[in-house]
Amino acid sequence: MKLHEFQAKDIFRKSGIPVPNGQLITSSDQATKVVQIINGPPWVIKAQIHAGGRGKGGGVKVVHYPYEVVTATEDLLGKPLVTRQTGPDGVIVNQILIEEGIKIDREFYLSMAIDRSRSESTMIFSQAGGMDIEEVAVESPELILKEHINPAGGWMTYQARNLIYRLDPPLLPAAVEELMSVMANVYKVFVTHDCSLVEINPLVITKSGKVVALDAKISIDDNALFRQKELLKLDDPREKDPLELMAEKYHLNYIRLDGNVGAMVNGAGLAMATMDVIKMAGADPANFLDVGGGASEEMITKGFEIILKDRRVQAILVNIFGGILRCDVLARGVLAAAEKTSIRVPLIVRLEGTNVEEGRKILRNSKLKFLVAKDLAEAAVLVAKQVSKTG
Ligand code: GDP
Ligand code: MN
Repeated sequence: MKLHEFQAKDIFRKSGIPVPNGQLITSSDQATKVVQIINGPPWVIKAQIHAGGRGKGGGVKVVHYPYEVVTATEDLLGKPLVTRQTGPDGVIVNQILIEEGIKIDREFYLSMAIDRSRSESTMIFSQAGGMDIEEVAVESPELILKEHINPAGGWMTYQARNLIYRLDPPLLPAAVEELMSVMANVYKVFVTHDCSLVEINPLVITKSGKVVALDAKISIDDNALFRQKELLKLDDPREKDPLELMAEKYHLNYIRLDGNVGAMVNGAGLAMATMDVIKMAGADPANFLDVGGGASEEMITKGFEIILKDRRVQAILVNIFGGILRCDVLARGVLAAAEKTSIRVPLIVRLEGTNVEEGRKILRNSKLKFLVAKDLAEAAVLVAKQVSKTG
């Protein structure tokens, strides 16, 4: 689960990580009042969406006159913002954070994430902050410093020194102390909130020598939300893909991908294997959809509805291994879905397992037009042919 910048900054503030003063607004007429209580000029207008790259996409504006605060918020609110992380349609801006402008002397990058290859959390620090860290990693990897954290001991002060004393030019002692405290607090936030990511880019030294987090990004591990009930309240469903949201409601594991072959599969492992086989046949999956081992007729119907709502889908591959989910139940689900939502694309079905004959018979006797494949390889080839035909 991702948090908004203003939510992450609230957590930072409570955890002793300095952030600029700011106020959240949801309509532009609130802007006039906010200008009077937030220090400025300059003011910084920041669109609150769950995507980065806002600076370059026009979602962060530094303005110098009160009327500009109003016009800048009017320009952003209620409209889609496109950044390199949103996709071409952008994301609607519902909320704006207005902050006091900070005079920047130096910009750093600081984050904490899990390094899966070492099974350890890792602090990442770089003096090349403010810009795309991915680019820095490619072009000057020596500027990215890392400290792995032993879970038994936690964050150690010597690790902060390891990172900070490699800065060139070095920092003044007061800034070193503040930066060490920020690092320790970032670690604390990461652990106590069950985060998968805490990222500050840029973490700045101001012209007056203070360390301040200008940006804030926090992601919470979804598997820990059961014990992070307070954080669950910060969820903003408006930021989620509407199809993924609908899938969540019906307990379907659905993830949207970039291709045009809709896939309906039972079991996560089989779903992954199906995606591989679709790729090997030269096509691209439009989604990952695991209807689960014990899927009901209703879940199958909903699964179809979700796949078909995705206008990019040009063919559907149904790959079911009937174990707990019997093939006849699946077949009836397919028919029920076809009755409710006219299936406008070719359907390729591969069934195997419990009650497979009965399942095939149900499909054969229906008026639905579809192709039954004898095995998974053939199913993938058939589906790839269908999408290459339609282009
Ligand atoms: P992102 O592009 O989505 O990561 O948004 P950021 O919050 O990082 O803002 C983008 C850029 O705006 C930052 O890298 C800063 O250079 C600039 N910026 C943000 N806040 C301030 C501020 O208070 N003062 C100044 N001078 N620049 C700011
Ligand atoms: Mn940033």
